[in-house]
Amino acid sequence: MTSPIAYVSRATDEEEAKWIAMLSQAMPEETIVSVRQMTDDQHKAAEIAVVANPDPDDIGKLSGLKWIHSLWAGVERLVAELGPSTPPIVRLTDPELSRVMAEAVLAWTYYLHRDMPAYRQQQERRIWKDLDYRHPREVTVGLIGLGLLGTASAKRLQDAGFNVMGWSRSLKVQEGVETLSGEAGLDRLLAKSDIAVCLVPLTAQTRGLINARRLQRMKKGASIINFARGAVIVGDDLLELLDSGHIAHAVLDVFEKEPLDANSAFWTHPKITVLPHISAPTDPRSSAAIVAQNIRNWRLSGNLPATIDVQRGY
Ligand code: NAP
Repeated sequence: MTSPIAYVSRATDEEEAKWIAMLSQAMPEETIVSVRQMTDDQHKAAEIAVVANPDPDDIGKLSGLKWIHSLWAGVERLVAELGPSTPPIVRLTDPELSRVMAEAVLAWTYYLHRDMPAYRQQQERRIWKDLDYRHPREVTVGLIGLGLLGTASAKRLQDAGFNVMGWSRSLKVQEGVETLSGEAGLDRLLAKSDIAVCLVPLTAQTRGLINARRLQRMKKGASIINFARGAVIVGDDLLELLDSGHIAHAVLDVFEKEPLDANSAFWTHPKITVLPHISAPTDPRSSAAIVAQNIRNWRLSGNLPATIDVQRGY
C-alpha cells in the first residue's frame, strides 16, 4: 500500500476539504488526508505533502517527508519559513496560470496605455477632453523578470503590438524582445520603459529592487505594475515619486502585508490602483491535474520535476 499524502495549509477545514476533494478526484489511486486529521502513524508514513501556505510546525510533524508540492507558483514565503533544511520543494508550473498572468499583464497594460486612470479622474470632474492616442508600437513595456510568467506575458504583449523588453538574472533569448541582465541591463530597461511590469520572485536580491533611485531612472510620466510581491517595490519611495509627478501611475496587486492595511495610503492615492492579489489565481482543476501527474511520475520512476533552488530563493 502506498503512503498517504498530507495536505497542509493554513486554510479553514471547509476550504481544505474542497482542495482535498479536487486532488482526490485527480488521483483516485491516492489517499490524501489533512495533516490536522492524520494519526501519528500517518504523520510518520507520509512521503509527500501538498501544501498551500502551510504552517511550518505542521510540516515538522511529517518525519518521513521526501518532498513537498506547492499548489502555488510563488514559493517565497514557503522557502523563507521552511529554511535551508527543507525537503525538496516543487512549485506549481501551470500553462493555464501563465496564460492568466499574461492576460492580466495585457489587460492592465491597456488600462495604462489607453489612459483609463486619467479618464476616470476627468469624469469625476465632468471634464470632456481627449488625450493623445499612441500606437502600441510607440509604447515600450519592460518586464522585470522573464521566467515562465514574464515570457508568456512578453509574447502576449508582442502579439498586441507593444515594443517589449525583458530583464532576468541569466540572459534570455526571445525573438523580437530586447533581453537584458545585470545592473546596467535593469537601468536600460527602466530608462526605456513607458510601463514596467514586476514579475520577479521575492528573494534577498529582489527585496527593495525598485527603489527611489531606480524609479528615478524611468522616464517622467512612466507607469509601473507590480504583479510579483509587494516588497519588490519600496512603498515609500513609490509614493514619493508619484507625488513628485515623476511616475504617472502604479497598479499594485501585491503588498508587503495582505490584505492591505485599512490605513494604507495606497487605498486612496489618486495615482494608485489597488488590486486584491488577483492577477493570476491558481486554477484548482488544472493545478490538481498537474500535481497528480507529478506525483504519479514520482511513484512510477522516483523522478521529481524541477525543484526550487532554496539557496537562490526561487
Ligand atoms: P520564474 O519562472 O522562477 O521566473 C522568475 C524570473 O525572475 C526569471 O526570469 C529570473 O531570472 C528572474 N529573477 C529572479 N531573481 C532575479 C534577480 N536577482 N535579478 C534578475 N532577475 C531575477 O517565476 P514565475 O513563474 O515567472 O513567477 C514570478 C513571480 O510572480 C513569482 O515568484 C511570484 O512572486 C509572482 N506571482 C504572482 C502572482 C499573482 O497573482 N500576483 C501569481 C503567480 C506568481 P532567470 O530566468 O535567470 O532565473
